[in-house]
Amino acid sequence: MIKKRITRVLALALSVVIILASLCSCDDFNLFDSPNSSKGKLVCHYLDVGQGDSIFIELPNSQTMLIDSGENYHGAGIIKYIKKRGYTKIDYLVGTHPHSDHIGSMAYIVKNFNIGSVYMPKVSTNSRLYENLLTALKSKKLTAKSGKAGVKIFDDGDDNLKAEIIAPVKLEKENLNNSSIVLKLTYKNSSFLFMGDAEKAEVSAIKDDVRADVLKVGHHGSSTSTTKAFLNKVKPSIAVISCGSHNDYGHPHKNVLKLLKQIDCEVHRTDKEGTVAVSSDGRSYEVETGLESIVRSK
Ligand SMILES: [Zn+2]
Ligand SMILES: [Zn+2]
Repeated sequence: MIKKRITRVLALALSVVIILASLCSCDDFNLFDSPNSSKGKLVCHYLDVGQGDSIFIELPNSQTMLIDSGENYHGAGIIKYIKKRGYTKIDYLVGTHPHSDHIGSMAYIVKNFNIGSVYMPKVSTNSRLYENLLTALKSKKLTAKSGKAGVKIFDDGDDNLKAEIIAPVKLEKENLNNSSIVLKLTYKNSSFLFMGDAEKAEVSAIKDDVRADVLKVGHHGSSTSTTKAFLNKVKPSIAVISCGSHNDYGHPHKNVLKLLKQIDCEVHRTDKEGTVAVSSDGRSYEVETGLESIVRSK
């Protein structure tokens, strides 16, 4: 695998924008004004939503996917980010599990954006956020499809582009983390694995091949999720941890960082680097850090 790395130094980028904006007659020049500049590429934006998850994915066929939506005050910011990339629709919306740091803004996004199909695990909870989401789906005449192992969200049949749900194999109602949708995305020779908050019990039950180049580390880097045995199966070259700075849970756990270091994996963290984007042309990867964070916006 060939890896290239671009570290965007925000201050430098901003000064370039300011200079260009002063030279340019257009009023709203912005770095993001090159929507899907990467046609034919798959780009995963691990959005910095503090302590939570939200991953916006530009597919090489110009469709889009959103996995999770941060807390309930991130909705407007997420929609703004997607619009800046030039999109007007989320073709595939995935709520990994009904915890507030994952589905917090999903009702808002469903109400305020164009949504294709929706996937959620078949577990219910009586939280207001979850009930609001069901109401929002109903009002848009959308029904969530059951997200469980064996479900293919799409597959072009040529092994060129596919998204498969590989867990949960079995639902666990007592610990919703262990009902998380685990999703594997493959584009030609590149692969991405998204773990939600799946903990050891769910992870060890996975029967499908978990091997992937880019790993969204489970449960914000908690030690309850990532084991050495699992990393030996995935063999990631790049890992992204989505967590808030100085969070109350001590995420990411130092042992998880140690395990990733032991396998010589390049680690990126939203708490330290803001939004992280990993793009693939099906063969090689580019990583961009320091992209726009999703701030409290509601
Ligand atoms: Zn979480
Ligand atoms: Zn959770």
